[in-house]
Amino acid sequence: MPTSYEPGAPTPDGFIPLCVPHIQGNAWTYVKECLDTNWVSSVGPFVERFERQVAAYTGAQYGVATVSGTAALHIALLVAGVQPDDEVLVSTLTFIAPVNAIRYCGAWPIFIDAEPQYWQLDPQKVADFLEQDCAWEAGELRNRSTGRRVKAILPVHILGHPVNIDPILALARVYHLPVIEDATEGLGACYQERRVGSLGDIACFSFNGNKIITTGGGGIIVTDQEVWARKARYLTTQAKDDPLEYIHYEIGFNYRLTNMQAALGCAQMEQLDEYIAIKRRIAQQYQDAFQDTPGITPMPEAPWASSTFWLYTVLVDETEYGMDSRALLGKLNSAGIQSRPLWQPIHLSPAHAGHAYECPVAENLYRRALSLPCSVGLTEAQQAKVIAAVRE
Ligand SMILES: *Cc1c(COP(=O)(O)O)cnc(C)c1O
Repeated sequence: MPTSYEPGAPTPDGFIPLCVPHIQGNAWTYVKECLDTNWVSSVGPFVERFERQVAAYTGAQYGVATVSGTAALHIALLVAGVQPDDEVLVSTLTFIAPVNAIRYCGAWPIFIDAEPQYWQLDPQKVADFLEQDCAWEAGELRNRSTGRRVKAILPVHILGHPVNIDPILALARVYHLPVIEDATEGLGACYQERRVGSLGDIACFSFNGNKIITTGGGGIIVTDQEVWARKARYLTTQAKDDPLEYIHYEIGFNYRLTNMQAALGCAQMEQLDEYIAIKRRIAQQYQDAFQDTPGITPMPEAPWASSTFWLYTVLVDETEYGMDSRALLGKLNSAGIQSRPLWQPIHLSPAHAGHAYECPVAENLYRRALSLPCSVGLTEAQQAKVIAAVRE
């Protein structure tokens, strides 16, 4: 049996992949329209339509489509004013992309631990850092131990569940820090009645192949601030100041999404609510199956949250379950079922090694968590097979 599975690759016989794209509806019509009209590249009607569609969905005023979620994060940090040698507070329990984006700006991550209940960025740890480790100097907030300016907070909503954002927004107001949401895994999730992506000052989504909807590869920045949106559009299109003479006042980036990808995105957006309903149904079935399975903790959902359960994940207690999460991964793999641990917390990542951090909650979750198959196209029979293999 294969040990890894790339999203989009053909599924080997009987193999149950973790999370693969689900292409339906108008995808063929819209992409064909691009081919038929020759609008295949980074200009075209679907780009703007996709931007309007995603912005409207999340409740934001403006959308700027990008080649990837990582590119969106890079630009969002720049327009929020992050400069070389600044510091940005970021979740340590995350996929690495937001931390890389901080480094692309020449800035430095301050890693914040997760909370144990819902596995998201811990607002209390954000407060502790700002209150205990920072000081105001000449109108600027500085990290007392490094002397660097602290410039932004980048909470990552992981696995389709929102961060407990209100306490973080309150701190951000007190300390005058913009909040940049990494909502790449959270499209459609709600915090109270508000959609993820409209909670902070600016937010980023990803449409990579493993996300809840996909453009093959792509991302978007959403914000209510017109100046930021305009700046983001400028920076993602090579900062062109004169379209005829090609005069540039700044160093820009080639980060625009193509019309063909946006066309696929428009079709996928039409499916989003249905996909979320399916994801929630898959989660409910796992929840029912695992609530009395010793040593398996089903994925939580806070009373103030509506999760999309983008990547359905359980915690494995080695003593109670009889094996640890990695042994369960091996067991599932030999049954033809793909599963995956969470990411190594980034404060431990060799790529971002430096200062020693204490993030015991993230480390504990990293040891115990295992994500299970949860594609939108997962069949009842496939899910039953996964459930049986875990409970067996
Ligand atoms: C997927 C993801 C990204 C980056 O998205 P790409 O489109 O793959 O660049 C960023 N942050 C998190 C948390 C992600 O899961």
